[in-house]
Amino acid sequence: MSYEKLDALPPLREVIANHGLAAQKRLGQNFLLDLNLTRKIARCAGDLSQGTVFEVGPGPGGLTRALLLEGAASVIAIEKDPRCQAALAEINEASEGRLQVIEADALTIDIASMGDAPRRVVANLPYNVATPLLIGWLKQAEAVQSMTLMFQKEVAERIVAAPGESGYSRLSVLSNWRCDTRFELVLPPRAFTPPPKVDSAVVTLIPLAEPRFPCRLEDMETVTAAAFGQRRKMLRRSLKTLGVDTEALLEKTGIDPTARAETLTVEQFAALAREYRALKGA
Ligand code: SAM
Repeated sequence: MSYEKLDALPPLREVIANHGLAAQKRLGQNFLLDLNLTRKIARCAGDLSQGTVFEVGPGPGGLTRALLLEGAASVIAIEKDPRCQAALAEINEASEGRLQVIEADALTIDIASMGDAPRRVVANLPYNVATPLLIGWLKQAEAVQSMTLMFQKEVAERIVAAPGESGYSRLSVLSNWRCDTRFELVLPPRAFTPPPKVDSAVVTLIPLAEPRFPCRLEDMETVTAAAFGQRRKMLRRSLKTLGVDTEALLEKTGIDPTARAETLTVEQFAALAREYRALKGA
């Protein structure tokens, strides 16, 4: 692989000026212009030399260039903003066919049906759709090798949080039920152009071959929504919204009815999800 043409691309500030890519807030545009930083993020994703890397929201292409420079065999970049197409076409040309750009809303794209395995997702996500995108990928985790994603730091902390920690939430349970999760690094607002209001952080999620504990995803979604929907309440109250016999549910799973969602382990949530299914079917 030759990197000469990629190395010869103009600095990202110039790319933004040349293509009139003034950042738009409604698209969550906070760009990373430091290639050392984007290469560091790309390296968190591991070996990119096989399969396909999916990048959501390449923007002017700072992370896209980094992925290609770090040896990605094939990158599929999904960008909603048509203004970015010309800048990305320049990278496409310099990459000698390793980049494919799709102009679309990433929420509508089924990555499991595209590219070759192993499929990795690497993205500095637009914050307004970051969580729904992650939930969508968790739903097809069997098709994904790894996800290295930038979120607002508070969301990143929730993804890796353990029971009893302040960020422990529905997102923690769903993520750690389906994946190993790893906190990578924190980026201050000044790392971005324009700077966002809060710190950002990168996490990596590695889907397990099977969910950590058996149960159906839709039941896990339902019980975690009920439990964390009223997280200050005891489970005997918060789980009432499930519409099944709450007493039986807690008794059969051996969970203390006076406990709160924030103290339950992922294993206990999976037990609740299985028993919820059994009671609902009964
Ligand atoms: N990857 C670039 C970087 O690191 O400098 C840009 C990251 S910026 C935080 C988010 C990018 O996602 C923007 O380019 C924005 O236009 C794009 N975007 C926003 N919503 C999107 C969506 N629903 N589907 C695809 N791209 C989207």
